[in-house]
Amino acid sequence: MILAPEVETRPWDEQRADDDAAYRVQLAYLFARSPLYRAKLAAAGVPDAAAAGGLDRIGDLPLTEKQELRASVTPDNPIGAHLCVARDAIARIYSTSGTTGTPSYIPLTAGDVDNWITGSARSYAASGVEPGQRIVSTYNAGPFAAGAALASFERIGLCHVPVGTGNTERLVRAIQLLEPEAAVLTPSYAAHLLEWAAQRDVDLRASSVARILVAGEPGGGEPAFRAALEEGWGARVTEAMGIGDIGVSLWGECEAQDGMHLGARGFVHPELIDPETGEAVTMEDGAAGELVLTHLRHRAAPLLRFRTRDHVVVRTSPCPCGRTGPRVRCIGRTDDMLIVRGVNVFPSALREVVSTFTPDVSGHILVRPSAPGVKQDPPLPVSVELAPGAAADPALAESIRERLRHTLVVQARVELVPWGSLQRSEYKSKLVEHETTRG
Ligand SMILES: [Zn+2]
Repeated sequence: MILAPEVETRPWDEQRADDDAAYRVQLAYLFARSPLYRAKLAAAGVPDAAAAGGLDRIGDLPLTEKQELRASVTPDNPIGAHLCVARDAIARIYSTSGTTGTPSYIPLTAGDVDNWITGSARSYAASGVEPGQRIVSTYNAGPFAAGAALASFERIGLCHVPVGTGNTERLVRAIQLLEPEAAVLTPSYAAHLLEWAAQRDVDLRASSVARILVAGEPGGGEPAFRAALEEGWGARVTEAMGIGDIGVSLWGECEAQDGMHLGARGFVHPELIDPETGEAVTMEDGAAGELVLTHLRHRAAPLLRFRTRDHVVVRTSPCPCGRTGPRVRCIGRTDDMLIVRGVNVFPSALREVVSTFTPDVSGHILVRPSAPGVKQDPPLPVSVELAPGAAADPALAESIRERLRHTLVVQARVELVPWGSLQRSEYKSKLVEHETTRG
């Protein structure tokens, strides 16, 4: 189902022309209201919105890093210098957990909240869920922006059954008793549930769930990993992706499963950059790079050229569903990327190759770099977990090593570890463990 056909199927050049007009208005708004961007753009030699031009020149403007927003926080302004509205115009404030332990706040006006829900609803509707169906969700709304996505289920016309994270019995009971047609989870949790069910003789294939909507971390679009989820659940798996500072479930995959469409089109402008140099990368078919996003109609704290740290591959070929515009598949976080003798390696790509050895392996891996930092000397140590009862056959390790070398051009040292020895997650999987972080 296309939630807003007149919007989602319009020619992309029309969208682009509209976005260009919205962008110029958003820039003028930033110059008028955002202390952070007024200073940042002036320092870059851009005194006003007219000097910045339109979307065709957006690549000339400086990028925004999450750290800059944090650094602009003061005792008087706990949100940061990108805040553009008065206190009484803010309708909601989310926070991100942050790696440093200090939360950072994400304010939204009522209009911003509504735009988030509109985009998110389009993204989730692309999965094929229909009004009148039931969807069970496993996100802990709590303080986090992901909670805003939950309102999009009602916007689609679904009956929403929230069960939250951390109570698998409750989730499985809800599936068995309420018979939802769809479930929304992280890919890690969807995989974990299959193991959980296998140990208890619960047959998830026989359940009512025909669609699994995954989000929250990369992986749902990796063919072998996806195939394992689809086989175990007897359901179609599609993925969605957002980023708290910009919007929830901005992107959502359709039933063609060939990359995520931009559900938040009109609200957000996407770009690609080379994460090493910051140089713009043209968004053409097959292009890869870090996703950079710009708000087009945001009010509370709009961001310009925000680095998402998500590394994506772009598809621009026409999609059979009729939606227009570029599609993306996330292959990992820039922060998780390792460089092994000049080759970029994403842990999720390693897992994807290892997953092709199912049923001999469980699909769980852990990359254990021997040196701190991004650059690694080969061979890269990778622990590969065996399937239940499987023996650590040296020939299997050798086959995996050879396929990694052939597919990803990376030399790995494969260590087979017994089933159950790598950590499971009900939320997001950790695929890399640096020496220094081992406890
Ligand atoms: Zn499509």
